[in-house]
Amino acid sequence: MREWKTIHQNSLTDPGEISHVFSLRTQTVGSVTATYPAMINPYYRSIIERADDPLYRQVIPDRLEISRENLNCSEDPIGEDRYSPVPNLTHRYPDRVLFLISHTCPIYCRFCTRKRKVGRGLKVDEQTIEQGLAYIRSDDRIRDVLLSGGDPLMLEDKTLECILGEVRDIPHVEIIRIGTRVPGALPHRITPALAACLSDHNPLYIHTHFNHPGEITDLSREACGILADAGIPMSNQSVLLKGINDNPETLESLFRSLLTMRIRPYYLFHVDNVRGADHFRTTIEEGLAIMDTLHRRTSSMALPRYALDLPDGGGKVNLTTGTVQSVGDGKYLIAAPEGEMVQYSDPECSVTSNMKASNK
Ligand SMILES: *Cc1c(COP(=O)(O)O)cnc(C)c1O
Ligand code: SF4
Repeated sequence: MREWKTIHQNSLTDPGEISHVFSLRTQTVGSVTATYPAMINPYYRSIIERADDPLYRQVIPDRLEISRENLNCSEDPIGEDRYSPVPNLTHRYPDRVLFLISHTCPIYCRFCTRKRKVGRGLKVDEQTIEQGLAYIRSDDRIRDVLLSGGDPLMLEDKTLECILGEVRDIPHVEIIRIGTRVPGALPHRITPALAACLSDHNPLYIHTHFNHPGEITDLSREACGILADAGIPMSNQSVLLKGINDNPETLESLFRSLLTMRIRPYYLFHVDNVRGADHFRTTIEEGLAIMDTLHRRTSSMALPRYALDLPDGGGKVNLTTGTVQSVGDGKYLIAAPEGEMVQYSDPECSVTSNMKASNK
């Protein structure tokens, strides 16, 4: 069996095992994973340095995920299902679609916007893929297909090749994009064979997902090198995470390292108000202040756009001091893509996630 599959199959998923390895209470971990599955592969586990560190907190179940405060938030915070003409496909902007072709990931991030979908053990079936492809074929406004999940690179080369081939054959599709956590969380998956399969379908762009400099290792550098050498343009989407990367020093180090790996920082996403992830959400003011500091310190090459998906399918907006108007009390008016002003609130619960204290 290939190395990456063996590593994936040896992931910690069971609450008993996770509690044992990280000295947590099985009952606490179990009560979280009953709602939101966990997946910690041996590679990612090996780059966690200590309990509660920024990598630990991205993958270890925390009982705050099922706390009462978190129930205020939505299962589908950004209305992806509302704009979904066929299952697993979101058509929110005229010229591009988001197509979820896998429910599996190399790790299950505790802050994931699609917590409601990932890790349910279901494969995306052929009929769903066929329906999505048929939809893309039927609308010639679609020139950009963003494949995501779950993680598309968790599919076998053959399956991926087949889907990419079908998308590439649609005359009006100009570019294909793949959003993936694999280069930073299971770099063994990136092989020269995979890179060749991807570059066969160019123009194809990869959006990596690194959140912390600790995720940049010799192996992840090597993986990104294979993709860049195959001529695949890469950019990175990070999530601004409370207590994990919400300071200018960490982000500057992350973004500069990414540039050395031939990856351009693309987005820094504000955490969606997804149920089970509110304890990761910073305030918008904090995010704006961090971006402001970075702007003064480093090149625009290293600067992503700070963006928010407005609740209920309001759309993606860039957050800058020009688009956001603070009206006090953690409330804002934000200009939506169609121009109207939308209300937005910072998290009401000022829960702090102290994993050790809360899980024990
Ligand atoms: C974010 C997103 C896209 C891609 O947006 P870009 O700004 O072009 O990267 C496409 N469709 C949906 C539904 C999205 O949420
Ligand atoms: S890899 Fe992406 S889709 Fe999967 S759990 Fe993490 S954020 Fe969610």
